[in-house]
Amino acid sequence: MKQLVAAGLLLSLNGAHAATQTVDCGRLLDVKSGAWRERVSIVIEDGTVKSVGPMAANPAPGRIDLSSKSCLPGLIDMHVHLTGETQPVVEAYRDRLTADPADLAYRSVKYAERTLMAGFTTVRDLGAEQALNVSLKRAIAAGAIPGPRMFTAGKSIATAGGHADPTNNLSHYLSHAIGTPGPAEGVINSPDEGRQAVRERYKEGADLIKITATGGVLSQAASGQNSQYTEDELKAIVSTAKDYGFRVAAHAHGAEGLKRALRAGVDSIEHGTLMDDESVALFKKTGGWYVPTISAGRYVADKAKDPNYYSALVRPKAAAIGPQLQATFARAYKAGVKIAFGTDAGVFPHGENAKEFGYMVEAGMTTIDAIRAATIHAATLLDQSKRLGMLEPGFAGDIVAVDGDPLRDVKLLEQVKFVMKEGVVYKNL
Ligand SMILES: [Zn+2]
Repeated sequence: MKQLVAAGLLLSLNGAHAATQTVDCGRLLDVKSGAWRERVSIVIEDGTVKSVGPMAANPAPGRIDLSSKSCLPGLIDMHVHLTGETQPVVEAYRDRLTADPADLAYRSVKYAERTLMAGFTTVRDLGAEQALNVSLKRAIAAGAIPGPRMFTAGKSIATAGGHADPTNNLSHYLSHAIGTPGPAEGVINSPDEGRQAVRERYKEGADLIKITATGGVLSQAASGQNSQYTEDELKAIVSTAKDYGFRVAAHAHGAEGLKRALRAGVDSIEHGTLMDDESVALFKKTGGWYVPTISAGRYVADKAKDPNYYSALVRPKAAAIGPQLQATFARAYKAGVKIAFGTDAGVFPHGENAKEFGYMVEAGMTTIDAIRAATIHAATLLDQSKRLGMLEPGFAGDIVAVDGDPLRDVKLLEQVKFVMKEGVVYKNL
């Protein structure tokens, strides 16, 4: 039913949509084996793949003809912030004073659309204030606006003054006016408050938990890497998250905070910039995933050269931490750490997510492993490995197509020509 509603609303955008569709692909990437299957027909029924088989000699009536293209499963970005986008510090502070949640929500509509049109049919949104990302997810799921399928963390959980404390570095006047944020606003200062903050995310409608285990580059605070949680706070959050079926993603740049988070049992480390050998060993021991976000590192390092873009607090952190991410990624990949694709889109303009593939390959990853990171591996970290990341019967009808062979030139993934999400065509060039 949901599918029919979505199709109806998007009719003017995309043309006709039937309950059963046939998509004929010149070739289809089997992401598991890494091999192309030539001339394949994918039959989609009510948004789900029904069959994948050889293309018929006589094309089915009304089929979608991608016989000159290379098809892949819809791409997955495990780290985005769809309800905001990078802007100069002066504008960011102005927004802080004048923008209402509805202003930010309306702006996010185009960010979601750009992401989908870039071939990303699923994203994990790792933090927004006032549950804006949960509302955006609902609007997309209802077919009200085009966008990727979202899994959201609601508000990131931070400690006082930490990365994602919404009152960082405000004047005393404003701090008093706003009041001290607590677990409901995603700021905790004890294990008990950690438990409460997880339950608040459940109430908020989140799908998973995001914590900021160390300082961050773009927060208005001195350190981009200090540990910001005690071990008992981390353990309280992770164990409560498990009670609610939530996975936990931990932002971490510094090695000590990263290791505390892995020891507490988080599912993924985001950025991981200053990981050391002991961190790598812990990744392997705990089975934790690494989500690199090289794109964000490169973007902030570049913007740090502009004296007016970031604040005086942020600029040196961006210059110091940003350039290190790609080398960290190269080491982690070589060492065999499990890697899921994630960009931190929002820190750079939405829709440029696929540049990350080029950065991963440039750092030594094979192209097929980079594609696996954005399909089967991302789906596994999302706990969606039976529904997302592959094109086989029973999986979501999420298909993207490009010209040429992306295994030979990964940058072709930056020019996606066709996007289908759950059986609905959003782009067909
Ligand atoms: Zn982020």
